Amino acid sequence: MVILWLMVGAIFGYFFSPASQKNFESVTLGMLMALVCAHMMAGWQAEKFLTWLQQPVLDPHKKHSAFWGNAADRIVRLLKNKESQRLASEESLRQFLAAIQASPHGVIILDKDTRIQWSNQTASEHLGLDPKLDLQQLIGNMLRNPIFSNYVNSKSFDHEVIIEGRDHRIDSPHKVGVQLFPYGDGRMLLLSRDVTLIEQAETMRRDFVANVSHEIRTPLTVLAGFIETLQSLPLSKEEQEKYLTLMSNQAFRMKSLVDDLLTLSRIEGRHLPGQHEWVSIQKIFLQLEEEATGLSIKLHPLGKDRQRLNFVLDDEHANAEISGSSSELLSAFSNLISNAIRYTPAAGEITVAWRITETGGIFSVTDSGPGIAPEHFSRLSERFYRIDRSRSRDTGGTGLGLAIVKHVLQRHEGVMEIESKINVGSKFSLVFPLHRLRMNKPLSIAESVNGI
Ligand code: ADP
Repeated sequence: MVILWLMVGAIFGYFFSPASQKNFESVTLGMLMALVCAHMMAGWQAEKFLTWLQQPVLDPHKKHSAFWGNAADRIVRLLKNKESQRLASEESLRQFLAAIQASPHGVIILDKDTRIQWSNQTASEHLGLDPKLDLQQLIGNMLRNPIFSNYVNSKSFDHEVIIEGRDHRIDSPHKVGVQLFPYGDGRMLLLSRDVTLIEQAETMRRDFVANVSHEIRTPLTVLAGFIETLQSLPLSKEEQEKYLTLMSNQAFRMKSLVDDLLTLSRIEGRHLPGQHEWVSIQKIFLQLEEEATGLSIKLHPLGKDRQRLNFVLDDEHANAEISGSSSELLSAFSNLISNAIRYTPAAGEITVAWRITETGGIFSVTDSGPGIAPEHFSRLSERFYRIDRSRSRDTGGTGLGLAIVKHVLQRHEGVMEIESKINVGSKFSLVFPLHRLRMNKPLSIAESVNGI
């Protein structure tokens, strides 16, 4: 290119100089002027190129000289490659963050000073952080909890710690497990998970084991005491009889407890009762009446003070059948009757009834017992919840009867309603939905006698 300019300059110098001065100097002058022009031209093109370079993507097709055009093309290609790489990285980052957002775990990224760099929505639900406003805040300032502060200071992050979550209240606990995972050059990842239900289950399990141990230890201690007495003291035949009867009562109490525990665990572990097994109310009533009479006589053996037991089953509703498990329904019904008999004093009255209304099939047990204050209603079906502990034990209660009823109801889409008045009596009603009922043909005497 420069040679071309020099040749043009030489020709120009030679032909445009006066005839008398056409010599080597005029040619050199022409070449010098051509060099200056070429230099200025290159400078101007370089300037144009530099101006374009400031925002090359806005005008990628701008025309440049051959040399600068070549350079510009390469730069545009390079920039396009870089741009598509940037877009691809941005897209994968977006996908990655969306995946972390969808995580059931709270995720917080901390820098080496434990300042929040990023957090997902779940973390804010667990710990009450604001994903935008709390950026760059020290995590220790945001989670003001002594357990967490000690954990951070300990620098030992191989375990999680349980702290109170955003929605924690005394009457409605919200527990969150948090753990720090150091990575890179001193940065940390904080993961959180909602452990409220796990903690509740763990507390229930501990309480349950403690309750069962206590319930079994009491009669066992009494039994051991009687055995020792029988072994060490020279007792008369009558005394021995008396102690053996007391021992038998304690053994019976333990057996009832184990039976109820087994019933509960069987119900919990079993599949839901299917809709094709039909249980006849009439048959169930026959069995319940027989059991109830036996229990009432056992608890109140004196003839004149007997409880009055009424079993009301109108012809109109007697042929009903409930779909579900006969053993579970029988267990629920007889628990209610057993409670009524055990808590109602001698000469009291107990009425067991079945009827069908627009709401559903209702099995009810009404007694003239001591009644229950309304504040106990919501807790009655908790395992081992008793209003009067000694009365429950004296009458052979295990504290599991209503827990069994609740479970059976849940498995049969039923609900329990309680009406009660202190010193007047109580009424427990079990309501089953209409779609679980059907009317069957009346039973013949022979069928009834055969039982369920
Ligand atoms: P328990 O084996 O102690 O009877 P339940 O679970 O059957 O256990 O009942 C829980 C508690 O509810 C009982 O301990 C008793 O205090 C109270 N309760 C249940 N039924 C009646 C009733 N018909 N009358 C009075 N109190 C009752």
